[in-house]
Amino acid sequence: MPLPLIDTHAHLDDDRFSTDLPAVLDRATAAGVTHTLTIGIDLPTSRAAVALAGRFPQLRAVVGIQPNHVSEAGPTDWDEIMLLAETAPSVVAVGESGLDRYWDRAPFDLQEDYFARHLQLARRLAKPIVIHCREAEADVVRMLRSFGGPIAGVMHSFSGDAATATACLELGLHVSFAGMVTYKNADALREVVKVVPLDRLLVETDSPYLAPVPVRGKRNEPAFVRHTAECVAKAKGVSTDELCDATTRNAKALFGILGNAEG
Ligand SMILES: [Zn+2]
Repeated sequence: MPLPLIDTHAHLDDDRFSTDLPAVLDRATAAGVTHTLTIGIDLPTSRAAVALAGRFPQLRAVVGIQPNHVSEAGPTDWDEIMLLAETAPSVVAVGESGLDRYWDRAPFDLQEDYFARHLQLARRLAKPIVIHCREAEADVVRMLRSFGGPIAGVMHSFSGDAATATACLELGLHVSFAGMVTYKNADALREVVKVVPLDRLLVETDSPYLAPVPVRGKRNEPAFVRHTAECVAKAKGVSTDELCDATTRNAKALFGILGNAEG
């Protein structure tokens, strides 16, 4: 039996899983993935995440409005997100939130407004925050610093440089790597792995997006997190077993996940 792993970020409500999610989750279990966090990007997908976590005991939900979707949020959507985060027992974190300058889908000041709301909600509920950052590293670090550490949470699918990782670590955050770290041209990102201490590392798939090598180009799914873990272990200079053990322990502690698949 492979050593346990936790996929800390997946979009299992995605249409691409609509016909075969039970089989996808069986493959994850067979691959040793004991838990997967399924995450919302707006109110409907946050509700879907909570519904999925109610159906499958190995899932936990994360609820929030992703920066590229803040313009579409209706007037009461944020209140509904807060209510879900406060009341649904399967919700283990707030997100995904953050800032994104790559896609020009929402005014930046509105992104900042929602990022601040997620930070405050997470702190008020003593839940970690899941942070999305794309080509906005300086802005994310600026906002996190002005909010003040320590901040419990994770920089998800990290793609920044070592200085950004260090700044986030200093604020108390974890750093999670996704399939991108396995790509041939990702030497710089594999260098960043080295600056993240073993007790702050997490792994994720960000399914269904960006599947890792050697399944790159396929629909991504939680079972594939093992490929990313193997690559991160190599970059970090530790055994895969050690990496699995550390990241699973970190994920359980950060997200308050108890026990094994049924726990
Ligand atoms: Zn995501």
